[in-house]
Amino acid sequence: MNVYSTIESCRGAVRKAQQAGTRVGVVPTMGALHDGHLSLVAAARARCGMVVVTIFVNPTQFGPNEDFQAYPRTLDADFARCRQAGVDAVFTPSVEEMYPAGAVTTIHVAGLTDGLCGPFRPGHFDGVATVVAKLFQIAPTDFAFFGQKDYQQLMVIRQMVRDLNIPIDVVGCPTIREPDGLAMSSRNAYLSSADRAKALAISRALFTARDAADAGKNNVSALVEDVRRELHGAGIASIDYVEIVDAVNLKPLSTIDRPARMCIAARVGKTRLIDNIALRDGNDSQIDAD
Ligand code: AMP
Repeated sequence: MNVYSTIESCRGAVRKAQQAGTRVGVVPTMGALHDGHLSLVAAARARCGMVVVTIFVNPTQFGPNEDFQAYPRTLDADFARCRQAGVDAVFTPSVEEMYPAGAVTTIHVAGLTDGLCGPFRPGHFDGVATVVAKLFQIAPTDFAFFGQKDYQQLMVIRQMVRDLNIPIDVVGCPTIREPDGLAMSSRNAYLSSADRAKALAISRALFTARDAADAGKNNVSALVEDVRRELHGAGIASIDYVEIVDAVNLKPLSTIDRPARMCIAARVGKTRLIDNIALRDGNDSQIDAD
């Protein structure tokens, strides 16, 4: 496994492989790798002859009061996991390599970023879109793999790729969960065992809502109310949002009459967690490029 920290070396390796006829896939991450990340690597392995994982804790997607400094950094363990998963190359640049003094360009994807996490994390999606656009220039691969765990982010990246004619196929991969349902996340490392137990209510509420929607319940405010009650009952008082949105344009729905996604963001202790699920026929094939 090769480790690159310069843009030039990473781009050179991707180009060389492509010139030799190898299909290349990239998995952008912020490190602290878990089985969710590794599922993206496996999806990449299945389609591509060369798999590149990027590990970069991107400062521009963190707000001033967010956890950029505290974000878990476990580079040696990440390298070991990548090696074991058959990753061919890891790109791990410094902040200076990615954002040299004088860089002023940002990418803003309108519309899709107006709701859900957008208002709670001003500038977040500009930071995400900009760094991913940069990674797509640095590692101009054939495929890129993202998790549905960050559903809004996945849709923002797809829109950006369409709008900017970036010749990369974006593949959306299913959310990987702990056996008890909790969506895997690097931020789960922040949770005390009491908070971890509380956090379970998020996935539990999503599954209950999905089952209710499957059984024909299509009134959004009733479904949202049930979820809020379940979260409050578990001791989760700080809820950023519980919403049911159109699975494609992320606009709020009042009735589930099309492919939909239920999305939750809530604070458990000091940790902000997000999770989401497809409702009714808003199934994952809607967003998976396969
Ligand atoms: P992050 O390192 O948190 O920025 O995540 C990097 C990529 O891994 C993103 O595309 C995430 O959506 C994806 N990811 C994070 N957690 C999971 C999970 N539990 N299941 C599937 N993909 C995930």
